[in-house]
Parts: sequence; structure tokens; C-alpha cells
Amino acid sequence: MRTRITLACTDCKNRNYDTTKDKKTHPDRVEMKKYCPFCKKHTLHKETK
Ligand SMILES: [Zn+2]
Repeated sequence: MRTRITLACTDCKNRNYDTTKDKKTHPDRVEMKKYCPFCKKHTLHKETK
């Protein structure tokens, strides 16, 4: 079972990515380094609701 999540840049708070995750393998909020077009660099993106 996969859940839809949104990833937001921790620098500018923009929601840049929509993705899915498996709640069994990632019960907590996921964090990943992704390119932010607003910061124009790779930043840490966190799962939001
Ligand atoms: Zn950003």
C-alpha cells in the first residue's frame, strides 16, 4: 500500500515534489535531497501533509 506525499523544501518551504511512499518501510516523515528550482540548488526536502 503506497501513500501519496508532498515534499517541501526546508529552505524556502515551497512544495516542489509529489511522490508516493510505502508506509511500512517509511513510517516516519521522509527526508531527501532534491533540486529546488526556487533556491536553485539541492536542498533537503521533507514530507508534508
Ligand atoms: Zn527551496
